[in-house]
Amino acid sequence: MPSSLLLKGGIALIHDEYDHVRPTITDILISGNRIVKIEPAIEADATTEVVDCANKIVSPGFIDTHHHVWQTQLKGRHADDTLLEYVPKGNYGPRQHVNYTAEDVFWGELGGCLEAVAAGTTTLMDHAHMNITMALAATISSGIRSIFGYSPPLTVESWKPFKMNMDILGGHVMNTFDELAKNAPFGNGRVQLGFAFDAWFLPKECVVPLFERVKAAGVKRITSHYVRSAQLGLHSLPEIAHSYGLMDSSILWSHATNWTDSDVELFKKSGSTISSTASSELQMGHGLPIAYQDRAVEMQTQIGIGIDCHSSAQGSIPAEMRLGLQAARAVRNERFIEKDLAPVKVKPTVEEAFNFGTINGARALGMGKEIGSIQVGKLADLVILDAMSPAMVCGAQHEPVAAVVLHSSPADVDYVIIDGEVRKKGGKLVPAKVEEPAKSLLGKEMLEWKDVAEELVRSREQIQKGAEAIDYKQALEDVSKAFQLDLSRLVDDI
Ligand SMILES: [Zn+2]
Repeated sequence: MPSSLLLKGGIALIHDEYDHVRPTITDILISGNRIVKIEPAIEADATTEVVDCANKIVSPGFIDTHHHVWQTQLKGRHADDTLLEYVPKGNYGPRQHVNYTAEDVFWGELGGCLEAVAAGTTTLMDHAHMNITMALAATISSGIRSIFGYSPPLTVESWKPFKMNMDILGGHVMNTFDELAKNAPFGNGRVQLGFAFDAWFLPKECVVPLFERVKAAGVKRITSHYVRSAQLGLHSLPEIAHSYGLMDSSILWSHATNWTDSDVELFKKSGSTISSTASSELQMGHGLPIAYQDRAVEMQTQIGIGIDCHSSAQGSIPAEMRLGLQAARAVRNERFIEKDLAPVKVKPTVEEAFNFGTINGARALGMGKEIGSIQVGKLADLVILDAMSPAMVCGAQHEPVAAVVLHSSPADVDYVIIDGEVRKKGGKLVPAKVEEPAKSLLGKEMLEWKDVAEELVRSREQIQKGAEAIDYKQALEDVSKAFQLDLSRLVDDI
């Protein structure tokens, strides 16, 4: 691997100081893991690998602010699920450690990371429920940049009679965290340790010291789900966090759908950030994505977008940009239509969508100074898209941001560079170098995508056998009771 890369003559999507994207034909020189020069006609020396970017768009790498990366083997089974149906099937069902072996976790996590890389995601925030060591090894092996959100597991202790394991911080859970924190970051700094926390039912005396402990251990970003709905409860978690003195810029909340006016004020005051995940939110009944709402206009630099579940949607950030944008436009247009009026302009814009998936996503992760835009001094996380493909041609030449947001798919992603290293080349994933302890367990040093895919198919079959033994109808009732849901609010139609 050469220590420098020269991207020659591409249409670079460069942000100005006001976050407007200025498409510019230029060369970009990468040395080590940083962008060191952006100007026309840079000369390459003998050790520099030159990538011809004529007829290509060079974009900042896409940023995914919320993702359960281990879920690859669960694809297809949540297609018609509500959030409440997804929870026992996805999180409390096949997710159980009896169904997922350490190897299954490795393949699921590696598959999720590689789908993301192939789609041009260069950084993700992983809400990582699963077996930590193998998931971490898969993340490092994939080459992606990640904040690995270590998650104390909420598991089912027994299905009959139904009992959740409420001792979520017991056993080895926090000892393992401390051990990881001592060794973090991983993969030459690419993979940081974060924390993922959903146990707001624990008392304040437990939650506050836990947050202090993980921050003292070096964690910069703590992520938590917040869906204010009859499916998971109508209380405000940001208000709880605020009352505990914890609502600050270190917390990244996923969703925040159906937020209250008081929540909005708390977000503005505290600098807490939000991941908006259109596919899962629109499907599963979370509520409308907050990213494009009028109330969020002043807070766009605190908001990123995320995949959430690649088990129920494509793991592509441009696909999420597009879905969230068009849903927001539909909701706004409908306000006019209902009054027999018509909007003068369509809003929001493709640039807003692009920024949620790049620079604002980076800021939502607290990494806006390092990633999210193409700038000298920033880390070299870049995506090169084919401007001449059947989907992109003409759009790419006329308005490249619109081409990325509205026309592109992962098939148009030609090159992906993360931390200065090429991870996708000529439209194909570069083989992954397997990290320990997976290397010893699997006896493999390098993995091509076809090897990963074959293992995933085998792994899915074995997970499915375990899943078939679970009565999901009963599990749904049990989980609803465990969450103390008001079941009278679950209705068939209105
Ligand atoms: Zn989630």
